[in-house]
Amino acid sequence: MTAPSSDSEHYDLVVIGAGPAGEKGAAQAAYFGKRVCLIERAPKPGGAAVNTGTIPSKTLRETALYFSGFRHRGLYGVDLRVKQDITIADFMRREREVIETEWGLIAENIDRHRIDCVQGTARFVDAHTVEVTRYGQEPRHITADVFLVATGARPMPPVGFALQEDVVVDSESLLTIQKIPSSMIVVGGGVIGCEYACIFAALGVRVTIINERGRLLSHLDPDVSDALRQSMTARLNITVYGNAEIHSVDLGGARPQVTLGDGTLISADLVLVATGRMGSSAGLGLEKLGVRVNSRSFVQVDSNYRTTVPHIYAAGDLIGFPALASASMEQARVAVCHAFDLKYKRAVSGVLPYGVWTIPEVATVGESEESLLARGVPFETGRTSFRRNARGEILGEVDGYLKLIFHPDSQRVLGATIVGEGACELIHIGMTVIALEGTLDFFIQAAFGFPSMSDAYKYAAYDGLQQLERRRARAAKQSPAERDAAVGD
Ligand SMILES: Cc1cc2nc3c(=O)[nH]c(=O)nc-3n(C[C@H](O)[C@H](O)[C@H](O)COP(=O)(O)OP(=O)(O)OC[C@H]3O[C@@H](n4cnc5c(N)ncnc54)[C@H](O)[C@@H]3O)c2cc1C
Repeated sequence: MTAPSSDSEHYDLVVIGAGPAGEKGAAQAAYFGKRVCLIERAPKPGGAAVNTGTIPSKTLRETALYFSGFRHRGLYGVDLRVKQDITIADFMRREREVIETEWGLIAENIDRHRIDCVQGTARFVDAHTVEVTRYGQEPRHITADVFLVATGARPMPPVGFALQEDVVVDSESLLTIQKIPSSMIVVGGGVIGCEYACIFAALGVRVTIINERGRLLSHLDPDVSDALRQSMTARLNITVYGNAEIHSVDLGGARPQVTLGDGTLISADLVLVATGRMGSSAGLGLEKLGVRVNSRSFVQVDSNYRTTVPHIYAAGDLIGFPALASASMEQARVAVCHAFDLKYKRAVSGVLPYGVWTIPEVATVGESEESLLARGVPFETGRTSFRRNARGEILGEVDGYLKLIFHPDSQRVLGATIVGEGACELIHIGMTVIALEGTLDFFIQAAFGFPSMSDAYKYAAYDGLQQLERRRARAAKQSPAERDAAVGD
């Protein structure tokens, strides 16, 4: 990577943080000929996506599925488990390899765009200058016309107890545990908690989830969380405590022991705390400049990702929801295009796919039933089970399903949800049709390859048409007042 030639150099753009948002924002500006400096405090780029979050968790999921033979369990009448006793070294080996490859790819991208890189921790000393400090080196000052702050987020610390190496961990310190536990408590029923619960359960670890909400993944439609919970409990033997409050955590004994509000005692070898994330804005000196930051340390931005100080932009996890690697990259590109008036990209697509890499995978795009109900928008759904799909049957993926949500008059597709193997890939078909404002007819007319999971879209669309027919038949028998009351039924 290129280093800046002098301390006092001035840049068109200084980017703080080399995660997905920082890397892509920097590359976008450099591609259009801007002089860009990228500052990263960690020894390697990639941020949470490469080092502590997305890539590690997704690689560990594949590793767990491989070693446990989980994908084919029960299909061939023999135990396809690759290894009975998996060591932590077995478990982590592939993760390390993938991360190292990712580092190489990011370094290539940065070099190709001739972006200057500085390693160190940045903070603003005035509105156009950042100071970069690094252990054992003199602080350096770098100035710019425009700044993109992309310092990401970090796990929320637990309340009422503390992290303890190898005993009570968060999603970052989990990656350095020294052995695979035989039992584990996961505090939090959100995306990160559910993903890691499934990964460890697939390895044979006895997992208990303590969720303060009633539903796992409570941001998804109830049918999705119900299907996931059913699968996680039946196929992975995960125990779930919903609406559960932690009263106390005792770390004094041989194993940590959690007492719930109702007096239930649960102990395990390892506790994973996954109770949300907060913005990494502390110490950047943003508030002093007038940049507005909320109570969870997320930076406030407008639709162009501009903070309350016009030449300082922020993107990625630092600004909060949706906190996805994909969205972070796009936000940064939009921010940079706005900052330099590049007529290239003006907004992040409103049709974002959300993938949750539980076992089974869950993916959604567009509207949910709950969001439409809340807004009083009429809708109908069409649904098909992977049990009825030949490829699903071959793969043994019979618990999953695909659901389409569409407008009953225009039949325009408004949303899609998939539970099952390949959901996080398959969802992009739904995404494309929604983004292109397509209707159910696209799926009815399309000839999908056979056998394929994608074919499920067609049968969900047929089901949608049948539901419409039933709705019309019902409406024909109803009084006008009853018809009006049936919005979204
Ligand atoms: C366990 C887990 C699983 C996830 N799975 C997925 C997934 O499957 N799909 C998905 O889309 N997203 C996933 N995410 C979220 C995804 O990782 C983030 O959305 C993404 O990394 C955010 O990118 P970012 O560039 O905004 O921030 P980050 O990736 O966090 O990068 C921020 C960078 O800024 C640096 N930095 C911070 N402060 C300073 C400073 N003062 N000076 C210099 N550098 C600084 C940090 O060292 C870091 O490298 C997951 C996250 C976690 C934790």
